[in-house]
Amino acid sequence: MRPTIAQVVLPVPLDKRFDYRIQAHQFPVIGGRVSVPFGPKTLTGVVVALTHKSDFPAEQLKDIRQVLDSAPVWPEKLYQLLNWSSQFYLYPLGETLLNAMPSALRKGKPADFTSQVEWHITEKGKDQLMAGFGRAVKQAKVMTMLEDRPLPHQRMLDEEISSTVLKTLQEKGWIESTDIKPQRVSWPQQIESESDKPRLNAEQAVAIATINSAAGFGCYLLEGVTGSGKTEVYLNLIKPVLEQGRQALVLVPEIGLTPQTINRFKRRFNVPVEVIHSGLNETERLNAWLSARDKHAGIVIGTRSALFTPFHDLGIIIVDEEHDTSYKQQDSLRYHARDVAIMRAHKENLPIVLGSATPALETLHNAQTGKYHHLTLTQRAGSAVPATHSVLDIKGLYLESGLSAPLIARMRKHLNAGSQVMLFLNRRGFSPALMCHECGWIADCQRCDAYYTYHQNSNEMRCHHCGSQRPVVHQCQSCGSTQLVTVGVGTEQLEKHLADLFPEYNTIRIDRDSTRRKGSLESALSAIRKKEYQILIGTQMLAKGHHFPDVTLVGLLDVDGSLYSSDFRASERLAQLFIQVAGRAGRASKPGEVLLQSHHPEHPLLQALLYKGYDHFAQTALQERKMAGLPPYTFLTLFRAEANKGEMVEEFLRQLKHTLEAHPTFGDECMLLGPTPAPMAKRAGKVRWQLLLQTQSRKTMQQLLHSARPAIALLPLSKKVRWTMDIEPQDFS
Ligand code: ADP
Ligand code: ZN
Ligand code: ZN
Repeated sequence: MRPTIAQVVLPVPLDKRFDYRIQAHQFPVIGGRVSVPFGPKTLTGVVVALTHKSDFPAEQLKDIRQVLDSAPVWPEKLYQLLNWSSQFYLYPLGETLLNAMPSALRKGKPADFTSQVEWHITEKGKDQLMAGFGRAVKQAKVMTMLEDRPLPHQRMLDEEISSTVLKTLQEKGWIESTDIKPQRVSWPQQIESESDKPRLNAEQAVAIATINSAAGFGCYLLEGVTGSGKTEVYLNLIKPVLEQGRQALVLVPEIGLTPQTINRFKRRFNVPVEVIHSGLNETERLNAWLSARDKHAGIVIGTRSALFTPFHDLGIIIVDEEHDTSYKQQDSLRYHARDVAIMRAHKENLPIVLGSATPALETLHNAQTGKYHHLTLTQRAGSAVPATHSVLDIKGLYLESGLSAPLIARMRKHLNAGSQVMLFLNRRGFSPALMCHECGWIADCQRCDAYYTYHQNSNEMRCHHCGSQRPVVHQCQSCGSTQLVTVGVGTEQLEKHLADLFPEYNTIRIDRDSTRRKGSLESALSAIRKKEYQILIGTQMLAKGHHFPDVTLVGLLDVDGSLYSSDFRASERLAQLFIQVAGRAGRASKPGEVLLQSHHPEHPLLQALLYKGYDHFAQTALQERKMAGLPPYTFLTLFRAEANKGEMVEEFLRQLKHTLEAHPTFGDECMLLGPTPAPMAKRAGKVRWQLLLQTQSRKTMQQLLHSARPAIALLPLSKKVRWTMDIEPQDFS
C-alpha cells in the first residue's frame, strides 16, 4: 500500500520528526528533500520515514507542499553516517542533515548542476574597443577583461563589477551572455601524468605496500616528520584507487589548503580535482559536491566539512595533519572530522590514512593498543637534515619587545648569512593590555572577563573574545592619571620593534589581522618565498603547512604560558607547534636552528621535547594523562551554559547534575566535576558556567546521555539559559 504520511526532520533545534500528509501526485523518498509549511514559514526538510500512521488525527496534519527530490540526497552509507553523527554528538537530526548539504540545496534548489552564465564580447563590442570608452571606466574594465576570452558571471562579481554595468553593455550590444552547463568528463586511460616522480625510499615503499595489500577497512597512522615524504605516500596510494575507477577524499586543516598542495595533486593525475572549503560561493560549492557525487571528480581535497561530501565510489580517505585542532567543529554539530572520517571508512569498508609528524595523543594511544596500524617515516626525503634546537634561559634577562639579547644576536648572524628568520608569538595586536602606571587599573572589556588588546595600527582597543572595539583611552578610569602604559607584547609591537632593530631587513607579519583581506595570505606567502622579506613574524598561522626552505632560524618567543596552562592539552599543542616549526627550518646546505625562550628551561616537558623528541614527550604525556584519568583513558562531555544572570546558569547546571546522578545508568565509573565558572567566566555580556562529565568508556557515556536527555530537556531552566553539550571536547575556554 502507498504510504500516506511522511516523517520529516527540519532545520529547527527540536530533536523530533514532524508528520506531513502525502498528496496523491507526490512520491517522496527517504533521504530526499521536501518543502513543507512550518508555522508561518515554508521550510526545506528531509524525509526520514514513510508510513500510514500518525499520533495526530489526519485532519490536523498539513500537506507536503512540494517533493524536491525523486532520489535520496546522499548515498545510503553516507546517510547512515549522518544519522550516526547526530546520535553520537546528540545533535538534532534535522539540523545535522540540513547543515551537511550545500546551502543551495538547503534553499530548495535542484540537486543538479547549475549552469553558469558566461559573458563574451561581440563583433560590435570589438569595434568599440578600438574607439574607446571615454570616462566610462567600469565599462572599459569589463571590455578589456573580455577582450581575449569569455569569463563567467561570478568572476565579474568577484572583480566588483555590478550586474548593472553588464546589463548596460549588453543593451548596447557590446557583450552577450551564454548559459553553459559543466560537461561530464570521463577520466583518461592514463591516470598518472608523466611528471617527475621521486624514487620511493624503503620506508615509503613499506607503508604503501602495507596499505595497498590490505582489503577493506583499516586505519593507518602514518607518522613522519615534515618533509619525510608523506604526501608522496598519499599520491602513491591514490593512484591505484583512481586506476580502479574509484575516488579519493583528502582532508586538510583549514590553513593547509594552499595552491601548492592542491597543485601537487593536480599535476600528478589526469583526473578532475575538486577543492571544497569555506570560501566557496553557493554555486561553486554545489557544483563541487555534485562533481564528487556524479563522479566527474577523481579527488576531492577539502577542509573539515568536505567530510560529508557524497561520492559515487569512494576508495580511500586521507586525513593530513590529523592532530590539527581545526578538525573539531566548535558549534552546532560539534563533530571531530578525523573521528567521523574513521567511522565513514568503517561503514564504507575503506582504508583510511591519518598522517602527521606529531600525532594526537589519542591517535598514538589507538596505534599503541593495536586499534590502528602504525607506519613510520623516519628519514627526511631528499637531502634535508633535521634542525638543531635549544632553549634560551631568559630568567632575569632584559627583553626588548619580547626579544632577549642572545636571540637578537643569533638573528643577526642568520640574517647576515643571507637567510630568513621566523619568529612566533601567539598574540596579535600591539600589546595584550593597557595599564595605569600610577594605580594599576587595566582597561577591560565590559562585556567579557578579559582585557582589551591595544591595536596601535588601527588606534583602537579590541576585545578578542566578543569582538567589541573602542577608541583608545588616554586617561585612567580609576584615578584619572594620563600615565597609561602597555603591558606585554603582541605581534604588532614586535613588528615595529624589529623595523628599528634591523632597518636593513624587511619584516612581514602574518596573523589574523594582517591577512583579513581575501588573497592576502597567499600573496604574503609568495612574497616570502621570493625572499622579499627576511624576517617573518606570526602567530600559529605561520606554523602550519608552509614550507620556507630559506628560513634557517626559528624563535619561539613565549612558551611559558603553555607549560602552565589550565588546559590539559596545552602542552601537547606546544609540542606539536615546536616539532612543526623545527621540521620546516633549513635544508641540507643550510642547516636550521630552533630557539625557545623560557623562564623554565628545566621544565621536564621542554627537556623531553628538546633532547628526546616528540615520541618520548608523547609517552611521558600519556603516562601523565593515565595517572590523572584524562583522555584518551577516560571520556569527557562538557556541558556549557550561559545567560545574563549568573545564578540561573549555576542553578541550571546543578539541576542537570542531579538529573544525571539520579539516573539509573549513572554508575561508579561516572564522575561529574562542577558546576564551575568557565575559564572565561563572562563573554559578550553573558555569564558562563560549565559542568564536566567523565566516564570510563564511550559506551557508558552514550548510554547515560541518551537516556537522560529527555529529562534534561524537561528542566524548566533549560529553556531560559543557552546550553550546549560538547561530546569529547577539545576546547575548555
Ligand atoms: P611531507 O608530506 O611528509 O611533508 P612530502 O611528500 O611533501 O613530505 O616530501 C617532501 C619533499 O621531498 C617533496 O619535495 C617531495 O617531492 C620530496 N620527496 C618525497 N619522497 C621522496 C623520495 N623518496 N626521494 C626524493 N625526494 C622525495
Ligand atoms: Zn590609575
Ligand atoms: Zn569582550
